[in-house]
Amino acid sequence: MKTIFLTKNDIYKGHLILVNENYPVNENDVPDLKAVNGSDITLRNTAALQLDMAINEINGRSGITPVSGYRSMEEQRNIWDDCLIENGMEFTEKYVAKPAHSEHQTGLAIDLGMTCRHIDFVRPDFPDNGICGRFKTVAAKYGFILRYPSGKEHITKIAFEPWHFRYVGTPHAEIIEKNGFVLEEYIEYIKRFKYGKQSLVFRNEYEISYLAAGNYPLEDCNIIDISGNNRDGFIITKRGVAYER
Ligand SMILES: [Zn+2]
Repeated sequence: MKTIFLTKNDIYKGHLILVNENYPVNENDVPDLKAVNGSDITLRNTAALQLDMAINEINGRSGITPVSGYRSMEEQRNIWDDCLIENGMEFTEKYVAKPAHSEHQTGLAIDLGMTCRHIDFVRPDFPDNGICGRFKTVAAKYGFILRYPSGKEHITKIAFEPWHFRYVGTPHAEIIEKNGFVLEEYIEYIKRFKYGKQSLVFRNEYEISYLAAGNYPLEDCNIIDISGNNRDGFIITKRGVAYER
């Protein structure tokens, strides 16, 4: 059986890392990037492939434009500074994350706009109907969540952003959507399922649990994904009973 060695530093890696006002991105984790939808916008490999598949499913290649994906620290700083000069502090704090605290620096977040002649870089149009609405209905199946929904601003500390999607992987996006969670809430919720003792069972296909940060050798052939939460531990996704023969 293959043994997986986890170290404390691995909590900063994976598709479920929480990056917000309180938890900065780990700069040592340089993402492996790939262009999306034939543009020069990039995302982490898996996220880029999944986004392309989602857009292809709804024939959205011409109707949806990727506006902003991965950003380096320097790019995030420039966006913050430019927005501050152009729009002032109140607006900037509402829509732009501080350098080191933007999800875009993880390569897991994408801003999408409805294709039109002038797309606003900070707040692209992404309406609920038409092609954009169709994207929203398939996003979770491909591992994407609407990261900053309305009504959760007190938790995310970011205004409602209908254009900003975050890759968290499957089946996590579906669980988050079904429960109406934001990522902050999901990360907290999953902590009640302690690895080896309890798990969150989803469609009998997946068992999800939490393991506190530490150095461990793990031996379990049913593990399909391990992600850090960028905070205090790991989220472990295993094959559920539906796959047992
Ligand atoms: Zn964004």
